[in-house]
Amino acid sequence: MKYLNCNMKVAVYSAHKFERPYLEKAFAGKHEAKYITSALSLETASLAEGCEAVSIFVSDNASAPVLQMLSKAGVQFLALRSAGFNHLDLAEVKKLNIKAARVPDYSPYAVAEHTVALMLALNRKLIRANSRVMDQNFSLDGLVGFDMQGKTVGIIGTGKIGSLVAKIMNGFGCHLLLYDKIENPELKDKYNARYTDLESVLRESDLITLHVPLSPETKYLIDKTSIAKMKKGVMLINTSRGALLNTKDTIGALKTGHIGYLGMDVYEEENGLFFEDHSEDILQDDLIARLMTFNNVLITSHQAFLTDTALRNIAETTLYNLDCFASAKENKNEL
Ligand code: NAD
Repeated sequence: MKYLNCNMKVAVYSAHKFERPYLEKAFAGKHEAKYITSALSLETASLAEGCEAVSIFVSDNASAPVLQMLSKAGVQFLALRSAGFNHLDLAEVKKLNIKAARVPDYSPYAVAEHTVALMLALNRKLIRANSRVMDQNFSLDGLVGFDMQGKTVGIIGTGKIGSLVAKIMNGFGCHLLLYDKIENPELKDKYNARYTDLESVLRESDLITLHVPLSPETKYLIDKTSIAKMKKGVMLINTSRGALLNTKDTIGALKTGHIGYLGMDVYEEENGLFFEDHSEDILQDDLIARLMTFNNVLITSHQAFLTDTALRNIAETTLYNLDCFASAKENKNEL
């Protein structure tokens, strides 16, 4: 591996309009960025030819064959503009001797706050209420919500984001049930929360929110079997990764009313769908089409991270990661 104590050429894939100003500001006068609006894929990997580094977003395909193409094109460094790295074949990265780094905590607040925004919007039926008012329909029938105070909230995954959700929900006066393979004793004392097993979280919670990463262990954590254990009418929120939920099973439970509310910022088939304007297309995905028909389902297209603070931190940490690569500096963000 050769290190370059200088500026690098960086192919920035999935360079969305919303993040361009932040990236341009961070990169100014430093590395030479080649902004590519398309996602990284087998078809677009050759665009990185001549670049030492590539920067990718959550929706990019960094599977083994794509990484092999990047390596052949001379790419030595991979700067992820995300915290999650389930879209990256880490074993292949190591095999190809590519160095990869992520942005581990650009703003857990952004994601935690969006999680709570989904809870409140679903509970108080804000989207329906607003469209009624826009139609000069000022009736309140069908808009009854519930007090958050006193409800039991189950938080699955109490890392950076889950623990902030715990803090906010404690502020609402909720009872907190926590599940994580590593307990955070601070949460118990500070927020009067109780760690328990997954089964008890599923059985006892009025609202359940998911904050574990996607891994073979957590894929379809929520499926027919786990849904059957939940309270009837439960509110389920997923701002973590789509495949934590089995979408077909979730739709089944929405149809019977077992799931009373669903808030999702991520979707297991979101690649190629989210982050893009498909308003002129014929929707081909029948599962999301079905989800869109429920008035107790609220979908946002992976925007929980989308705050000014988070975008600034993502751009600045990406630059830091590239600087560390270029100067062979040790970096805790490396994978
Ligand atoms: P984190 O690493 O701080 O916390 C994850 C927690 O999950 C840890 O406490 C870990 O012990 C626990 N965990 C992992 N595997 C587990 C298992 N099998 N069983 C029980 N607990 C397990 O991560 P974070 O910063 O809180 O982020 C959580 C997830 O949020 C990320 O992995 C990412 O997928 C998602 N995320 C989404 C967005 C968005 O815009 N929607 C943005 C950032 C992150």
